[in-house]
Amino acid sequence: ETIGDNLDRIAARFPDRDAVVAVHQNRRLSYREFAAETDRLAKALIASGVQHGERVGIWSPNSLEWVLAQYGTSKCGAVLVNVNPAYRLHEVEYALQQSGVSTLIVLDRYKTSEYLTMVREVRGALPLLREVVIVGDEPPGDGEREWDAYLARAAECDDATLAARKARCQFDEAINIQYTSGTTGFPKGATLSHHNILNNGFFIGEGCRYTDADRVCVPVPFYHCFGMVLGNLAITTHGATIVIPNWTFDPALTLEAVQAERCTSLYGVPTMFIAELALPNFASYDLSTLRTGIMAGSPCPVEVMKRVQNEMHMPEVTICYGMTETSPVSTQTLTDDPVEKRTGTVGRVHPHIEVKIVDAEGEIVPRNTPGELCTRGYSVMLGYWENPEATAGAIDSARYMHTGDIATMDDDGYVNISGRIKDMVIRGGENIYPREIEEFLYTHQAIKDVQVVGVPDEKYGEELCAWVVLNDGANATADEIREFCRGQIAHYKIPRYVMFVDGWPMTVSGKVQKYKMREESIRTLG
Ligand code: ATP
Ligand code: MG
Repeated sequence: ETIGDNLDRIAARFPDRDAVVAVHQNRRLSYREFAAETDRLAKALIASGVQHGERVGIWSPNSLEWVLAQYGTSKCGAVLVNVNPAYRLHEVEYALQQSGVSTLIVLDRYKTSEYLTMVREVRGALPLLREVVIVGDEPPGDGEREWDAYLARAAECDDATLAARKARCQFDEAINIQYTSGTTGFPKGATLSHHNILNNGFFIGEGCRYTDADRVCVPVPFYHCFGMVLGNLAITTHGATIVIPNWTFDPALTLEAVQAERCTSLYGVPTMFIAELALPNFASYDLSTLRTGIMAGSPCPVEVMKRVQNEMHMPEVTICYGMTETSPVSTQTLTDDPVEKRTGTVGRVHPHIEVKIVDAEGEIVPRNTPGELCTRGYSVMLGYWENPEATAGAIDSARYMHTGDIATMDDDGYVNISGRIKDMVIRGGENIYPREIEEFLYTHQAIKDVQVVGVPDEKYGEELCAWVVLNDGANATADEIREFCRGQIAHYKIPRYVMFVDGWPMTVSGKVQKYKMREESIRTLG
């Protein structure tokens, strides 16, 4: 099945259910309307000469148009290219050029003309870019079309032409180029098929026990797999409702949307949940309709998970682990799992996916022993877009994707992620996983959020540096924090340096860019 066929089938089953509610745009589409609008966009794309397999980009914060583009392109067999909303001139030029985008949808309502100005500036360097579709009020120039005028071209494509195009689309062909977060460096474009992401979305939704009665609040970016697969595809494969609270993440608007739209599920990376729990008027929100949700993207601290389960009314909240290159999810905690596994692990392996944990020589390690996690199955991407060398470096000849993450598997098959190989700190010959120290420091009363990185040291090779954000009004000194660790964690794991900060460099998908923090720590500490 293709993504488009799946949507049409679900829409026929639940025509009157809400498919998408864009709270910030005051728009609401039922499944009947959503199927019709995505057909209309597919027809407009065909009428505009977009061929099967051609790349159509979208550069927009979260919006109704984003979701329409996701499904509309799938219906006409165009490959959707997700352009990171944080990109600036150089990066957008690179992404559009590298993926060969011929049509770009640009939303310009959020921050006036910012994106459009940049697109106009780089356009001369992009000969393949035929047409720019503007969602916004800026008058279109040469080779540009306003969104509604573009959609009106659908009249030039009849039903039979669209049906013929849909019939040509194959479930295993490329449908999406998703760029990785850029947490460890320059983002890479993962090429994914309908089969990859539609199935992954379906199984994630199963893990959350979604039905057509669920209403899911998605404050995570659509450009990233968290928004478009764990979000949109997990939701629409179950006839549930996508609730978009705002263009970008805002903790108060997120909880307002949960309350106003009576959401049953809420998503976020750990830092988003931390921000929501820290709202001064947190207790005034009615979150009683919530049941479940997903925390994912980076290590999920046990303390934060417990608070989300208990204080946010999300007893069934699940944790997912995965990466863009694997559609993304490989493991997920489930409601039936024992309590301690639901906070302390990333769950067991998803159906139809294989996982192995290997040592540096590629040998499978015994249970409870750390090694690199490798994934194989339907979910592994087709490859990095037009980058066979990078693909060969990531996927081995047995089709295993090497994740670069260090993991252990316990006797019951639950996986624990210790961290990224690149973030591991080696101090005086001891392997230290920053995550373990972060987990411990989260139990300190004054600490709101914390990240630990390694900095070079002459004597030990590396030393630990903790970046600490304190709770509003709280006080602590570096000595107090080290004292708090003493006797509780091994001496070599006690951070030598503690820096008090307001935040850290993050990706749009909410991930902490530790490579930038390392550079900054070195600069600050001299
Ligand atoms: P880049 O590859 O560009 O450096 P990235 O790896 O952050 O960025 P994504 O594909 O968005 O790009 O993220 C995948 C990574 O996120 C995983 O490899 C893993 O390190 C981390 N991750 C995802 N979910 C979890 C989780 N539940 N617990 C711990 N880490 C996680
Ligand atoms: Mg990665």
